[in-house]
Amino acid sequence: MQEPEEKPASIKDAAPLRPIGLAPDLCLACGTCSSGCPMTGVDGFDPRKIVRLALLGRDRELIESKLPWICTMCGRCQYACPMGVNIVGLIRTIRGRVDRDDVPGQIHKGVELNIKTGNNLGLPTEDFEYIIESVAEELAEEPGFEDFAVRFDKQGASLLTTLHNKLVNTHNEDLIPFWKIFHVAKEDFTIPRENWEGVNWALFSGDDENKRLAVGRIVEHMERLQIARLLYPE
Ligand code: SF4
Ligand code: SF4
Repeated sequence: MQEPEEKPASIKDAAPLRPIGLAPDLCLACGTCSSGCPMTGVDGFDPRKIVRLALLGRDRELIESKLPWICTMCGRCQYACPMGVNIVGLIRTIRGRVDRDDVPGQIHKGVELNIKTGNNLGLPTEDFEYIIESVAEELAEEPGFEDFAVRFDKQGASLLTTLHNKLVNTHNEDLIPFWKIFHVAKEDFTIPRENWEGVNWALFSGDDENKRLAVGRIVEHMERLQIARLLYPE
């Protein structure tokens, strides 16, 4: 007896980067995205190329290529696209399909550290407090800022600020201009003692689960401390 022919995979199954929500099928190949993209030409990168490869169902090639990681996710391409192709969403979806061990550079390691320790550097809480208090003391030595102090986890503060990890690591002098503005504006701000990371690398690496976890921590701070406004540095 003849074996029944195997049913061909649907286009959606065979090329899952083509779902209508991202709409590469609408692409006219006009190149407007490429002309506005600051990374066009860098190591052969071109957003139109990514859209066309997705349209042609060449998912594996895209997932294994370094092209999606060249994009800065600035969104200029998408803003300019006459057909409303969700280019940034497409690139992020491709990144999310890459095996985590193959995510380039420190991005995924930073995500893992953030989930484990509350910041992308893996900095212990006591070191964080020491750095923040030392910079605050330095500012308090300046005329007009003698009463400046940072309060961690202040209940009912007017503003919660998370921190970019580089402000705690290599660029902590850059905290001072922020704090001067807060002081002059009489802003009653606070910083979380733990889970203070303000850079969500999972957003960039296409890692939805860890992105949600990191965002959820900030929401938890705001609910716990009863704070309605957030300054999110990135
Ligand atoms: S701007 Fe939009 S329609 Fe034009 S090539 Fe880029 S993705 Fe395609
Ligand atoms: S989001 Fe990426 S592809 Fe689009 S313009 Fe920015 S760098 Fe280029």
